[in-house]
Amino acid sequence: MQIAQDTVVLVRYTLRNDAGDILDSSADGEPLAYVHGSGSLVPGFERALDGRKAGDKLSFEVPPTDGYGLHEAELVQEVPRSAFEGIANLDVGMQFHAQSNQGPHTVTVTKIDGDRITVDGNHPLAGQTLHFEVEVADVRAATGEELAHGHVHGPGGHHH
Ligand code: ZN
Repeated sequence: MQIAQDTVVLVRYTLRNDAGDILDSSADGEPLAYVHGSGSLVPGFERALDGRKAGDKLSFEVPPTDGYGLHEAELVQEVPRSAFEGIANLDVGMQFHAQSNQGPHTVTVTKIDGDRITVDGNHPLAGQTLHFEVEVADVRAATGEELAHGHVHGPGGHHH
């Protein structure tokens, strides 16, 4: 079966940045399962897997515009430390949920300079070219329930 809209795809993958550092990979045992075409993975990933089948191995690059977006300078803000009242051990790399006009999003603390805290609302991988190595482990049709939920049930997916 070929990968197409509304198929369940199981993949083993490794994601690296331009420098070759591993950013993410599927767990040793279980591959990642997703519903193809549901938008749960970045567009460039789904496009590269279109039409592939179980056993295929491929390497490809996803530019930021087909990945996690360009890095937008206006999403980087400096806020006073008092905005983090009650948070012990505030440190670079900590992530918080914040409200904005575009709804809830995650911000990451990127710099601490005394009482001035810099937070970045971009996705941590925004602006990065993503280098994927992927092995397709399995392809099957999604069930009606999986399509309704927008996620995979069973191995590699949700258990509920
Ligand atoms: Zn479900």
